[in-house]
Amino acid sequence: MKNEQVYYFEESIEALASRLIRFETTNAERVNQSAEYCCDWLRSHGVHVDVYENQGLKSVVATVGEGESTLILNGHLDVVPGQPELFHPRTVDGRLYGRGSYDMLGAVAAMMMLMAELVQAPPNCKVILALVPDEETGGELGSGFLVQQGVLGDLVICGEPTNFKIGVHAKGILQLKVEVKGKAAHGSRPWLGTNAILKAMEHYHSIVSLDVFQESTTYFKQPSINLAKIEAGKVYNQVPDLCTMGIDIRYLPGQNPEEILDQIRALLPDAEIEVPFRGVPVETKSDDKFVRKLCEVAQELAGDQAVLFGQDGSADTRFYAAKGIPAVEFGPVGANHHGPDEYVEISSLYVYKDILKKLTKNSKTKDE
Ligand SMILES: [Zn+2]
Repeated sequence: MKNEQVYYFEESIEALASRLIRFETTNAERVNQSAEYCCDWLRSHGVHVDVYENQGLKSVVATVGEGESTLILNGHLDVVPGQPELFHPRTVDGRLYGRGSYDMLGAVAAMMMLMAELVQAPPNCKVILALVPDEETGGELGSGFLVQQGVLGDLVICGEPTNFKIGVHAKGILQLKVEVKGKAAHGSRPWLGTNAILKAMEHYHSIVSLDVFQESTTYFKQPSINLAKIEAGKVYNQVPDLCTMGIDIRYLPGQNPEEILDQIRALLPDAEIEVPFRGVPVETKSDDKFVRKLCEVAQELAGDQAVLFGQDGSADTRFYAAKGIPAVEFGPVGANHHGPDEYVEISSLYVYKDILKKLTKNSKTKDE
């Protein structure tokens, strides 16, 4: 045990991140192994850790310090799949290459190292580190569950890959299954039928032209629509009588998904529309006192890169946002997440840890 502790204490952020990458956390079993490792690592550094289990998936909740305010650091341990070599991390020219290095095991390693340091030099607030599964597959089983269990705070930082930019807004998700009916006929006499595929295409174009999809906000040029799935047609010699579209809408903070849905329903009165998935947008106020503080510290230590922005995609921030808690995406510098040459700049992991550390030293002043 003693040797183990010495070994742990000697680990650098990049060594710890490399260890996490090697777990190849693309399935539940390996995500749990990684969670257990993180739990042991943190406990061996004197950090208090609780493990939550939900539908066989483990989340690690580590706590250091106490104070009037609570900072939640959130990191997901799961990664998207990749070629086998991506799970053998390597360091080239100050960059750590590997699946998850940037999204977001590098940030997780920096956060863990920070927790260990905070045991030695306590923060002025309560700091909770939530290491979760399931982010890449929806998040309900990890962060969603922890929020349900009351693991809440005053500011949440999800260590997503942002190059030190601070993601205060994120689009909401509205995914639709639209069933369009036609009329079958022999393929040699298409004029006798109604082609459901062609009808669906017309419907799709009229949806895209709705005014609501031309709106913009400070952080977003417009909402997005992706025609993600088409299922229709059986044989060449028949006019298809049914076409099902899968449409992924990402709407803007401030827009009302029910209104969007009503408008689409009004446009396609004869189509059947289901909503298989939805997610709330994130609309963290840029003048929130904790966000301002993060901005200030990030600009001081990372320079001009630390600007506010809106994120097109969705992250675990939305579970906290749904509870009215200011939540931001903020992570180190790198590139190619979910791609073949994913890397994180190692020096940025240290700057990242220092920013978070400084934030925990600053958070006590209540009247700021
Ligand atoms: Zn991520």
